[in-house]
Amino acid sequence: MGIETPNIIFGDQANEGTHNPLHIDVNRSHVPSRKHNLEKVYRHVPVWAQNLGLSLYGFSYRRERLGGVFHSAVKGFQTRDRWPKERMQEFLQQQLRSVLLHAFHEVPYYWQRWHSAGLASTDLERLTLSGLSKLPLTPKRDLVGNADSFVAQNIAGKKKLHRYHSSGSTGTPVTCVLSSEDHQRFFAAREVRSFGWAGTSIQSPRAMIGGRLVVPDTDSAPPYYRYNWAERQVYFSAFHISPDRVRDYLEGFHRYRPAVLTGYAHSYYTLGRMMLEKGLRLDYVPIALVLSSEKLTQTMKSVIQEAFRARPYEEYGAVEQCVLVTECEFGSLHVNSDFGIVEILDQEDMPVPAGVQGRIVCTALLSETQPLIRYDLGDIGTLSATVCPCGRDHLPVLQEVTGRVEDVVVGPDGRQTVRLHGLFIDLPHVLEGQIIQERLDVVRIRVVTQPGFDEKEEQIIRKRLEERIGKIRVEVESVESIERTERGKFRAIISLLSSNKVPESSRSHSLHEPYKPAPDRSVDASSR
Ligand SMILES: [Zn+2]
Repeated sequence: MGIETPNIIFGDQANEGTHNPLHIDVNRSHVPSRKHNLEKVYRHVPVWAQNLGLSLYGFSYRRERLGGVFHSAVKGFQTRDRWPKERMQEFLQQQLRSVLLHAFHEVPYYWQRWHSAGLASTDLERLTLSGLSKLPLTPKRDLVGNADSFVAQNIAGKKKLHRYHSSGSTGTPVTCVLSSEDHQRFFAAREVRSFGWAGTSIQSPRAMIGGRLVVPDTDSAPPYYRYNWAERQVYFSAFHISPDRVRDYLEGFHRYRPAVLTGYAHSYYTLGRMMLEKGLRLDYVPIALVLSSEKLTQTMKSVIQEAFRARPYEEYGAVEQCVLVTECEFGSLHVNSDFGIVEILDQEDMPVPAGVQGRIVCTALLSETQPLIRYDLGDIGTLSATVCPCGRDHLPVLQEVTGRVEDVVVGPDGRQTVRLHGLFIDLPHVLEGQIIQERLDVVRIRVVTQPGFDEKEEQIIRKRLEERIGKIRVEVESVESIERTERGKFRAIISLLSSNKVPESSRSHSLHEPYKPAPDRSVDASSR
C-alpha cells in the first residue's frame, strides 16, 4: 500500500487517543521529507534536546488544533449536550442534508456513485434521517488506496490539507485527509464530550502513553518519557513498560503531575498491574483518565483506578473521524451523533434491534474535506435498549463496541465470535491473554501468568472457549510477555486465517445472530 510509516515521533497527536480498541494508529505527514529528517536527528540528540524538539512541534500543533473554529465548535457541542431528543433530530437532519449535498456536488466518489444510482440533488435536499438507510454503503475497500477521490474539490487546493495514514498493523490501512478546521472541530467534540464528561479538559496538563517512538531505542536507559512544554504533556513510551522500569515511569508521573491521563488503555492496565504488584501507586490524585485504543474491561478499570487513583473513562473513535463514542458520568457509552451518525447493521445491511450485535456504519458530519457517508468501519458493536440515567437520550447508548470484523475466531461449525475477552476473567494467576487462531481447527492461547497458575485455570480457559465457539484444538502456552504491535498496541485476538479460508457459509450467518449472553456478560455490562 506504500503508506506504512511506523516510526513516527513528530506525528499524530490528533488522535492521541481516540480509540477504537482498535484504531488510531495514525501518522500525520503533510511534509514527509522534513519529518523524516527531523526524526533522524531526534534519535541522536540528548534527552533535553528531544524535549525541546517535541515542544516546538507541540507549539505549532497546539496552535493548529486549538485555534480557528475550535472555540465556536466547543460552544456548539456544549449547547447540544442537553438538548431534547426532538431538537437534536431536527438539527441532525439539517446537518445531514447539507453534508450530503456537499458530498454529491464536490466529492468525485459520491458524485459518480449516487449519480449512477439515479439520485438527484432534490432527493438529498428532502432526505430525512430515516431515509439515510436508502443510500448505498461505502465499503472500506473503496477508500483504501483511493483517498483522493473522497476529497471535496472545493477544499482541495484552497486549504492546507493534512494526510493521516493508519499503520495497518491492526487492520486495513487507510489514508484520511483533513483541513485544520476539520481538525479543530474534532478536537472541540473531544474537549466537550470525552474530556468534559470526565470533568477535565484537553488543555489540562496531561500524560500520554501512545505509539510515538519518543524513546527511539528499545534498550534505552531511562527516562522512558519526554516532555512537551508547549502542551504541558508528558509523553510515555508504550514500548518500554516492564516490571523493572515501573519506578521510572512512576517518576515521570510524579515529576510532572499530569491532571489527565490519556492514551492506550491496555498500556495503563499493564503498567498499573505492575505498579500494584510492587505495592506502588501514584502519590497524587489526577482528575481522570480518558483512554482509548483497546477495549476497557471491568478488570482493567479496577486495576487502573487503584494504581492511578482516578476513574478511567472510555473513548472510541476512528482515524476516519466519522464516529466518536464517549463514556458519561454514569458509565454509558454514548454515540455523539452530532459528530457522526451511527447505524448498526446485519450481514444483509439491515438495521439490527438493540441488544443484537452488528457492523458499525458511520456518517461523518464534521469532515468537510473527506466526508464519509454510510462508511462501513469494520468494527462490531451493539446498541443498548436501556435509557441512561444521565438524561442524554438524544445521544444513543452502545451496549458495547466488541471488536474488529477481522478479529473474529471461527468455530468448527462456522460460528464466529469477537466476544472473547471474558476468557480470562476471574482467573487470579492470569495477568493477560491473547487468542490466536492458527487454523480453522487450532487456536493458540498465550497467557502471561504468575506463580500459582495451574491445570485447573488452564481447563477453565479451554472450557470457556469451547462454550463460545464449540469443540476445537486449543494450545495453551505460558509466555513471559505478549508482543505488542509496532505501534505498541495490545491485540486480544489475532486471526491467521486469510478470509478466503473461512467458508462462505460461516461468513454469512455470523454476525447478525441473536445476541447470546456469554457467562461473563454481567461483568462486561457493568464495565460500561
Ligand atoms: Zn449517560
